[in-house]
Order: sequence, then C-alpha cells, then structure tokens
Amino acid sequence: MADFISKSLLKEKADEFGVELDEKALDRFDIYARLLVDWNEKINLTAITEPDEIVIKHFVDSLTLFSSINIPKGAKVIDVGTGAGFPGVAMLIARPDLDITLMDSTNKKLNVIRDILENMDLEANVVHKRAEEAGQSKDFREQYDFATARAVSNLRDLSEFCLPFVKVGGTFISMKSAKADEEIEEAKKAISVLGGKIREKKTFSLDNAGERTIILIEKFSSTPGKYPRPSAKMVKNPIR
Ligand code: SAM
Repeated sequence: MADFISKSLLKEKADEFGVELDEKALDRFDIYARLLVDWNEKINLTAITEPDEIVIKHFVDSLTLFSSINIPKGAKVIDVGTGAGFPGVAMLIARPDLDITLMDSTNKKLNVIRDILENMDLEANVVHKRAEEAGQSKDFREQYDFATARAVSNLRDLSEFCLPFVKVGGTFISMKSAKADEEIEEAKKAISVLGGKIREKKTFSLDNAGERTIILIEKFSSTPGKYPRPSAKMVKNPIR
C-alpha cells in the first residue's frame, strides 16, 4: 500500500527536534494518520486532516517535548486529556519503552485510540476518567514520573488537574502555543500551592506552524489532599 503521509518529511522534522524515528515508528505513524482521518469522518477528532499538516501539527508538535526534557527508559507517563492521542500516542510510537497512561473524559475518543493502538500493535493504559476524579484516587495519585497535556485547559486549572498525578521529583510538561506568559503569571500561585515549581520555559517555532511553548513544572512537595477539587469548584474559586 502506498504511504499516506510523507515519511521523509516526518523523519526530517522529528530529527530537527532530536527525535530519531526508525522504520517501524514511521510505519506506525502512517497507520495512525490513516486511521485518524478515517475515524474523523465518523466522530469529530481533529480539524487537521491534510497529511503534511498531520505530520507537523500533530506528530512533530507532540514529539517536540522530547527536546525539552530527558525522559528515562521505562518512565511512567500520564497524558491528561489525550483526545485523539496527542502527545501520548505519538510519544509511545517514538518511545515504545515508556509506560504510558492515556486519560480522557470522553470514551468515544478513547475507543478510537484503542482501535489505533491495536492496529499499530502497541500497548498503553487507556483510562476513561475525569482528571479531577482520578487525581483523588490512590491508583493514580502521585504515581507518575511525568504528566503531559496539550490543549486541555488554562495552565492554572491544568496544574490542578495534572500535578496531583506526579510523584515528588517528577515533572508536569505543559505544551502551549504562543501566549504562555500571561497564563504562567495567572498560574504561579496555584503551581506553588500544588507543590510545583516552574523549572523552565522553552519557546520555539514549529516549522512554519507558529510558535510553541513548553513549560516544565517540577514537583518538589506532595500536593495537599484537598486538590484536585471538582471542576465546578475550580471555576468558582480558582487558586490565586
Ligand atoms: N490533547 C489532545 C490534543 O492536543 O489534540 C486533545 C485536546 S482536546 C482540545 C481536549 C481534551 O481534553 C478532550 O478530549 C477532552 O475530552 C479532554 N478533557 C477535558 N477536560 C477533561 C478532564 N477534566 N479530564 C479528562 N479529560 C478532559
């Protein structure tokens, strides 16, 4: 079967962010793109459906986080609000050694992910839960070396969703587009209350798809038991 995506484009652009993709990974990304577009005709997953755009704006965009932080072999990672699998599934394709949990509150998206993983012959822990509920369960709370999130919520609420999952000494990796400074300002108090500290902010341009910012938030102390709160409470009474 002819390739659906340009594997050479994907390989070259991933390379620019220090991510080396072998033939197996490129084949899997090809299957992923094909199934994403197929499924997208049945349920709304993404507005990005043109193959080169999928390569840059979903695949390479997801992989950029590897250039911002060293993720050790076998690390436990939770991708919160993974949607159609970004960045979590893309990370798993590039690094099948990782122990990845893909969490979302919408089960129909997770069913797509289950189908895609099966077709790629990859395994992950696919969890249908709201982050603020899972964060209060001992099965998930402070169990992960890394939490990731792309395009889920503002950084303040997102920190309340994500930091409870991270072990002390672990890192929450937040992937943002250009306007991150205001969000960081608004989130600073919450991050510190939740036991985190911003270690680094990296801004770069993603090919010609615009600016991106990756914020690394290190967890230095346990999150107080009352967080995360139900989302209605977060909205009504944000940490500030
Ligand atoms: N991360 C993916 C990406 O970058 O393409 C999906 C982004 S999509 C805009 C946001 C996703 O977060 C949706 O799939 C939604 O169901 C999920 N989500 C929103 N609030 C959530 C919550 N409280 N717990 C778990 N998932 C949530």
